[in-house]
Amino acid sequence: MTTNEQLFARAQAVIPGGVNSPVRAFRAVGGTPRFISRAHGAYIWDAEDKRYIDYIGSWGPMILGHGHPAVLEAVQKALLEGFSYGAPTAREIELAEAIIAQVPSVEQVRLVSSGTEAGMSALRLARGVTGRSKIVKFEGCYHGHADALLVKAGSGLATFGHPTSAGVPAEVVQHTLVLEYNNVEQLEETFAAQGDEIACVMLEAIAGNMNFVRASVPFVTKLRELCSKHGALLIFDEVMTGFRVALGGAQSVYAKLIPGFKPDMSVFGKVIGGGMPLAAFGGSREVMKQLAPLGPVYQAGTLSGNPVATACGLATLAEITKPGFYEALAAKTQKMVQGIAEAGREAGVPIVTDCEGGMFGFFFANALPHNYNEVMATDKERFNRFFHGMLDRGVYLAPAMYEAGFVSAAHTDADLAATKAAALEALRG
Ligand code: PMP
Repeated sequence: MTTNEQLFARAQAVIPGGVNSPVRAFRAVGGTPRFISRAHGAYIWDAEDKRYIDYIGSWGPMILGHGHPAVLEAVQKALLEGFSYGAPTAREIELAEAIIAQVPSVEQVRLVSSGTEAGMSALRLARGVTGRSKIVKFEGCYHGHADALLVKAGSGLATFGHPTSAGVPAEVVQHTLVLEYNNVEQLEETFAAQGDEIACVMLEAIAGNMNFVRASVPFVTKLRELCSKHGALLIFDEVMTGFRVALGGAQSVYAKLIPGFKPDMSVFGKVIGGGMPLAAFGGSREVMKQLAPLGPVYQAGTLSGNPVATACGLATLAEITKPGFYEALAAKTQKMVQGIAEAGREAGVPIVTDCEGGMFGFFFANALPHNYNEVMATDKERFNRFFHGMLDRGVYLAPAMYEAGFVSAAHTDADLAATKAAALEALRG
């Protein structure tokens, strides 16, 4: 049998750091990444055939668990019809319609292949529509690795301690203003000074790239008010939260708390592709008509709207739009974090948790953080020990304390109970 360690050694010879996306390398927590050989339902198996309860779910897409029969069938059927045509298909329309049906702020969408591409394109469109250059993002929020957005971007970058990335010229980020998450005063000051130069504000309203931090209602309210007043577009990055925290994404959660609330544009990924490379950005017809071929803002993609990816996304959406899906998923997620919190109490270790829909976070701290600095002040050593304790006991959590976790519809009560038992042992061990 080939071990994880042997594979990691081989991988490092031919792939930088042995991985194709940095957080997979276990750099934050140390140790050997698990090389996954197969997955089914709530479980993944590594190269050594060890089984884990999976709370990463491909970093969000696998909301139904792995290999859901309806999704498998749709993908297999699509494969037989051809992998890619580079020409329009009916399935792209169906997927666009399915997204729009759930998100009232979105009248049109363009499909792309990754969240990075979607965020980058939304940004270009916002700048094209407003004719302005400046953009606002918040510390700890990640919007993909487009140059202009790669500033103080949480998660993978936080892990490596890079406030930004080498290879991004200062000129490219000179228009990117980075503000503190949940800081209303700073937002007001920034808009008072430069509001009429700001093209857009991009926000992870339930931020999953600094573990799990909610934007406060006063913060989102003020953001909406200032963007409207100054003609800046408010872009909700729902790559992680879209169809994950609720069918209508984080914006539907805030629309319940702030009457009439809507962002101007939205960015989606992960769940809408069900595990295939698929993402989207959208907004009002007025904004979207500025995109090529109708308007002057260029954007394109050889594999955009790929027929296999759209089949996978559509089959996934068909399952998650069934009545009661999110209620059941939210109940499982609550049970998962309650288990972690109870294990903490029983072991005498301070842990705080939060969750929404099928997304969760937990911190080794006494109170929930409200911004990136507060996340950074939580107990990292304790997290790293806990991560390995859980991994040893067959529970696969995100390998960094800056990442949110995900529960799928395939997780059973027995999985949740096993997770709690593992947590108690890991905390006591
Ligand atoms: N935005 C957010 C909120 C994300 O969490 C991510 C990926 N984790 C992205 C954008 C980028 O998506 P991708 O990795 O598909 O490029």
